[in-house]
Amino acid sequence: MRGLQNVKTLLQRGQAALKTIAKIAVEKAGCRFDKLYDYRIPEGMAVTPGMRVMVPFGRGQQRVGLVVETADAPAADIPLKNVAALPEDEPILNEEGLWLLRWLKENTFCTWFDALSVLIPAGYGLRGLTAWSLIRGVDAPEDLEPAALQILAYLRPRRRPAATHEIADALGIEQRRLPLEQLEALGLIRSENVVERRVGDKTLRMVRLTEASPEKLTPKQQQVYDLLSQVGCGSVREICYFTGVTQGVVEKLVQQGVAEFYEQEVLRTPLPTGAAPAEERPTLTEAQSAAMATLWQGYREGGRTGLLYGVTGSGKTSVYLALAERILAEGKRAIVLVPEISLTPQTIRRFYAIFGRKVAVIHSALSLSERLDEYKRIRRGAVDVVVGTRSAVFAPVENLGLIIVDEEQEHTYRSEQSPRYDAREIARMRARRHGGLCVLASATPSVESMWRAEKGEYLLAKLPERYGDAVLPHVTILDLKAEPMAAEALSEELCEELLYNLERKEQSILLVNRRGYSAVAMCMSCHQPLECPHCSISLKFHAANSRLMCHYCGYSTEVPKVCPKCGSRMMRYSGTGTQKVEEALRLRFPAARVLRMDQDTTLRKDSHERLLSAFGRGEYDILVGTQMVAKGLDFPRVTLVGVLTPDQSLFAEDFRSYERTFSLITQVVGRCGRQELPGRAYLQTYQPDHPVITAAARQDYLYFFRTEIEARRHLLYPPFCRLYCIGFWGEREGDVQRTGQAALTLLERLLREEYPQLPVRVLGLSPAGIVKVAGRYRYKILIKGKNTAPMRELLGRLLTAPETDCKGVAITIDPNYDSGM
Ligand code: ADP
Ligand code: ZN
Ligand code: ZN
Repeated sequence: MRGLQNVKTLLQRGQAALKTIAKIAVEKAGCRFDKLYDYRIPEGMAVTPGMRVMVPFGRGQQRVGLVVETADAPAADIPLKNVAALPEDEPILNEEGLWLLRWLKENTFCTWFDALSVLIPAGYGLRGLTAWSLIRGVDAPEDLEPAALQILAYLRPRRRPAATHEIADALGIEQRRLPLEQLEALGLIRSENVVERRVGDKTLRMVRLTEASPEKLTPKQQQVYDLLSQVGCGSVREICYFTGVTQGVVEKLVQQGVAEFYEQEVLRTPLPTGAAPAEERPTLTEAQSAAMATLWQGYREGGRTGLLYGVTGSGKTSVYLALAERILAEGKRAIVLVPEISLTPQTIRRFYAIFGRKVAVIHSALSLSERLDEYKRIRRGAVDVVVGTRSAVFAPVENLGLIIVDEEQEHTYRSEQSPRYDAREIARMRARRHGGLCVLASATPSVESMWRAEKGEYLLAKLPERYGDAVLPHVTILDLKAEPMAAEALSEELCEELLYNLERKEQSILLVNRRGYSAVAMCMSCHQPLECPHCSISLKFHAANSRLMCHYCGYSTEVPKVCPKCGSRMMRYSGTGTQKVEEALRLRFPAARVLRMDQDTTLRKDSHERLLSAFGRGEYDILVGTQMVAKGLDFPRVTLVGVLTPDQSLFAEDFRSYERTFSLITQVVGRCGRQELPGRAYLQTYQPDHPVITAAARQDYLYFFRTEIEARRHLLYPPFCRLYCIGFWGEREGDVQRTGQAALTLLERLLREEYPQLPVRVLGLSPAGIVKVAGRYRYKILIKGKNTAPMRELLGRLLTAPETDCKGVAITIDPNYDSGM
């Protein structure tokens, strides 16, 4: 069998090698030039689609190219350049990879190489370099400039050619100031093109103190020194964060020999080490078996999607495990997507317990080399189950029978960077292609998914009750209007409940629902908040480092004593919502052990997991946090949940704010009473009659869904259309605005003259919610439409039209817009 396959691939390659033209995507092409270029395949070079090659491109160095197609004849009768080199002998993309690549390019308006970047791990990047070596036995003229002499002296003892950047580093001269071309013209050195793997680009740079004792330090250096003596070591990023200094200060310390840099090699092994603990497979309950049967029917039909709608604590994970086992028994493989790996170590552990080393893990917290290794194991076919976050949906699994998307409503499945894809859409497509099954699962499915299930497009499987004797928590709405006080304060009733829990040694969770909220610095005299100099947003006060910070660009500054705008000394800073609640709890319950989790306390990579497992072990009584405490936790002693200001997120601008609020409340309420001990939850709100709040209190998802889907139909929002966002970005606001206006004019003209039939609503040009971020201004055009070929063509034309070509202004198209700009 193997032998046969080999013969087959050889034959295929033999055939492909007969083709004379390769259609090649070239790296670093801006979107206006991102097309397939024709190159001639030199005789004897076995070039097939999916391979990476080196090609001459424009002036200068060779570039990396990806062969997307091969052909017998060139598209036009023009002289073609040859493919220069073939650095690898295997295609990097298989047939499915090429298919995904095309899909991403066509549907998400990215470049070919952006699309490639999600299909292979970062460590697989290639780069073309120029390397230099000395031509021996030639005498150098005497009037050479010093830099040229230095280069010759550097190259003389070397046996291997040196890359330009190596020479620059060794001599401490900027690359563009090296007189390399001049030396080559004089016949003293020669250049060649080499290819290098890009591994190591993204390792974490760490810093620690050396033995040397410092002599004289500036105040800023002293701050870094003090912090390092306290904590031992830290990533440069963290150190800068906590001291508010720039990287330059740390670099100075290193130059003085007081500190040293090192690379963090392996952050953590992705899987628990040692043998897999043998876990009892869960015996499915009747309800779970019924859900399983429905979904399995979908597998039998081939290529279908099922929606598993199961309340919190109903045992969805047990169903995933059973499905995966059955798929494996069919000789197929599975991918399981989770919204955020840091919050769901349980998922990995449970899969590992059953499938052991046949499990691979892919997520962004892995080191580059780990990701590369997991990728190789998957490609070799050594892995049966891949567990991971969004990009794991592209894992090159062959014989794919099952893709599960856990908590499918989470916004983390939508990529906000190019390629702007939706992992759920990719999951459905891949399942269809393989004739396998895609399962979307949630306690609060996205409105789109439930709508498709109701239409019969998806199979619907339900788990209406919790596992075992556990029942859903009892939820009470507390009307804040009746108690005049600040939103983050604790109502009397909630305090009594907390006290009751403390006495019985049961645990409580308090959610402060304020997305991105933390305290602003405000002048009490002119009432102006302090703004970031690079972004149009106010700076936030961080208690952890006592500094004002910008959440968008990372700028930070000391807390000023006088208002920079009016000179008044009446500056006020308040802690974040979570900090305030923490303080209130300490005052009220001095003996209680309170754990706070928010951006500030979870900066370190593994702190999430560390803090949560400490809470799980019962080292704390009360957990206070932002939305990060709402998901995935399964702790039996949690019996009380308080949601402070559940209404805060109702009034966000985007059309998904109701859905997000409902889902968040349901999720966090679902954290309590998961086993024997019954749970109770309190929603403190100024909107006690708001339909979203009352539906969440009743935990009535279907009621919420019915109201919401009608609203979407009425106002024309997804799933009744697609919302496209054309974004314009640049440093000069006038240019950005003008480009946006030109695009709008062009769009309207094209719609009138060339696409009169296209069902489209254009919502005009407007500044982004936060117009300036990191010194760049942002404008957007929102378009409601359908994802059809003419629509994609029209949008693609906007990206490349000369009318929208303005130096310094970038254009992006997001085909799955919901918020964020
Ligand atoms: P969900 O993901 O639906 O919120 P989980 O999968 O976390 O629910 O299950 C909730 C709890 O019930 C877990 O502690 C899990 O171990 C337990 N459980 C669920 N199904 C079973 C089963 N069939 N046998 C034993 N325990 C189960
Ligand atoms: Zn002022
Ligand atoms: Zn900023």
